Amino acid sequence: MKTRVEKIDRTNINMDAIRAAGEILKRGGLVAFPTETVYGLGANALDEEAARKTYAAKGRPSDNPLIVHIAQLEDLRAIARQVPDKALILARTFWPGPLTMIFDKSGIVPDGTTGGLDTVAVRMPDNPAALALIRAAGGYVSGPSANTSGRPSPTTAQHVREDLDGKIDMILDCGPVEIGVESTIVDMTVEPPMILRPGAVTKEMLEEAVGEVAVDHTILTADSKTPPKAPGMKYRHYAPRAEMVVVEGPLERVTARIRSLAAEQEARGHRTGIIATEETVGRYDHGNVKCIGTREDESTVAANLYAVLREFDADGTEYIYSEAFDEGGIGHAVMNRLLKAAGHHVIQV
Ligand code: AMP
Ligand code: MG
Repeated sequence: MKTRVEKIDRTNINMDAIRAAGEILKRGGLVAFPTETVYGLGANALDEEAARKTYAAKGRPSDNPLIVHIAQLEDLRAIARQVPDKALILARTFWPGPLTMIFDKSGIVPDGTTGGLDTVAVRMPDNPAALALIRAAGGYVSGPSANTSGRPSPTTAQHVREDLDGKIDMILDCGPVEIGVESTIVDMTVEPPMILRPGAVTKEMLEEAVGEVAVDHTILTADSKTPPKAPGMKYRHYAPRAEMVVVEGPLERVTARIRSLAAEQEARGHRTGIIATEETVGRYDHGNVKCIGTREDESTVAANLYAVLREFDADGTEYIYSEAFDEGGIGHAVMNRLLKAAGHHVIQV
C-alpha cells in the first residue's frame, strides 16, 4: 500500500486533509496522527477489524490494549459504563492533555480494542489536528503509538515513516511533538485511583486535584513477580537495538564511570554511544556523545529521549551508556522509559 503523507500546519489546519483522513478511518483504514505526547496510529475504536489491522501494522501482541481518543467529554459516557466523580474532576482539570484514564467499558467497545479486557483506556489529546481528526472520524479513535512494536515511540512524522511506511493509509505530519513521552495512565476503577504508567501529568498534580493516588509499584522496579497492570508495560518497550546501561549515583561518579566504560568498549572495537546532558557533555572524550537536554528542565530530556534512541539505532550503536535522571516531576516518566529501554540494566556508583 502507498502511504500518503499530508503536512498539517497546526495554526491553520488543512480541513480537506482532515476530512480525507476521517473518511479513511470510517472505512476501517489506518491514519497516523500527531498528539502532544507521541504520534498515534489512528483507527476506528468501535471497529473490531480496524483493531486487528492496528496490531498487524505495529506487529503488536493483541493482548496489549489500545487507548481510545475522544474529542469531547460528553463522548466518554458512551464507552465508559461508569464515570466516577474523581474522573470527571481529572478530565476537567487535565483534558485535553497527557492523561489517560481506565474505566469499565460499555458494550459498544469491541474486545479487539481492549485486548479482551472489560476495561477501556480513554484520553483527549491536546493537539488541534488530532481533535479535528477524531471528530471527522466519528468521535472514537484508537491510538497506540505509531511505531513498530518494541521500537522507540515516534516523536516526528519521519519516525512514523521509518516504521510504518507502506503499512498504513496516511500520515498527518504536524512536526515534532511537544512532550515526547506517552501519557500518564490512571486506573479509575479502583480506589484510590492508581497510576499504571507515569507521564507528564505527575502524581503530585493528580493528588492536588483529587487527593490520594496510588502508584503501581512495577513502574520503576525490575522483575517483581506481579505483572504490571497496564499489559503493555510488561514488554521490553521503547528499546533501542543496542545494549543499554543506565548509570546512577552522584553526577561526578556517574560521568567518571561512563567515561571508563565507553573507553573500554571502544578499545574492543564496539560502536559506543553516551547519553549526556548540557551540564556533562564536555566531560566525555570517548564514544558518540549525544546531549539529550538540560538537567535544569527535565522536560527537555523527555522531548529528546526517543529521537536520541532512534539516532543511536541509525548509527549502528552496539552499547549505550546513559546518565540517570532525578525522578521528580516528569523525571519519573523519563526514568521509567529509560529503565525499560535498558531492560532494567542499572549500575550504581
Ligand atoms: P500505547 O498506546 O503504545 O501508548 O500503549 C497503550 C498502553 O495503555 C499500554 O501500556 C496498554 O497496556 C495500556 N492500556 C490500554 N488499555 C488499558 C486497560 N484497559 N487497562 C490497563 N492498561 C491499558
Ligand atoms: Mg507504544
